Amino acid sequence: MIDLETGGFRNLICSYVLKGDKIILVESGPTSSVNTLVEGLKELKVKFTDVEYVAVTHVHLDHGGGAGSLLKLLPNAKVLVHPRGAPHLIDPTRLWESSKSVLGRVSEIFGKPEPVPEERIVPIAEGSFDLGGGGKIYVVETVGHASHNLSFFETFNVGVFPGDAAGTYFSEFDYVIPTSPPPFRLDAALASLDKLISLKPAVLYYSHFGKASDAVKRLKDYKAQLQLWGRIALEGVKEKRSFEQICERILREDAAMNRIAGYLSAHPVYSVTALGNTVQGFVEYAKTLT
Ligand SMILES: [Zn+2]
Repeated sequence: MIDLETGGFRNLICSYVLKGDKIILVESGPTSSVNTLVEGLKELKVKFTDVEYVAVTHVHLDHGGGAGSLLKLLPNAKVLVHPRGAPHLIDPTRLWESSKSVLGRVSEIFGKPEPVPEERIVPIAEGSFDLGGGGKIYVVETVGHASHNLSFFETFNVGVFPGDAAGTYFSEFDYVIPTSPPPFRLDAALASLDKLISLKPAVLYYSHFGKASDAVKRLKDYKAQLQLWGRIALEGVKEKRSFEQICERILREDAAMNRIAGYLSAHPVYSVTALGNTVQGFVEYAKTLT
């Protein structure tokens, strides 16, 4: 694991290095952190010519935004990405514009993505790759957070890289909170979690942030948390509650969210990405049901 220290913040975003006979990176991270990632690769004694794939869970700036800049330094690497994400790596113009409008100053912390040459992209929704040394990596389509979120399942440690399909993990508090900005699809997110649970992983490698054991329990707990938020949002929309009232009820009934709210609202990045935005995703989804 390499802490990308994006914007100078530790424990925010990380990339992972899988070493079999071949080397696969999971998450390029954002453009602004490519230098940190490269320094981390040097520390791990990764030869740049040996990197075969950069697997991005999805194209949001914090996960795949740096792929174009990174590939300039890794001459043999190709990018694994969902077919629906691929066009946004080839031409990131629209992705950048929409990120600026949703994330504001946080998009500048992540940095503007550079395009990835089309011939260096491997669009994939499901499949597997041999890592050598008896290891394999499976690509699992886990949409919901985004319509193109992939997870990667590796057999060396029986671990899953869920991207944003399993929430944001705060190891210092041992809490997980939803990653559900609009257009969030609760039904798809729950089905994706069932898919990951059925793989019986032992380890979760969160992009936000770090490695965690008890993977199946965490995935089940996250499912229950999404269902709780979904129920509160749906009742709130049906009863014509204000957005603030829905947020308040979530904070009241979700113990983890309640305890971590102060930390989130004081955090320069999470105050933008992890509070109102996540509830908004649930509220907009609930409106589609009523
Ligand atoms: Zn993310």
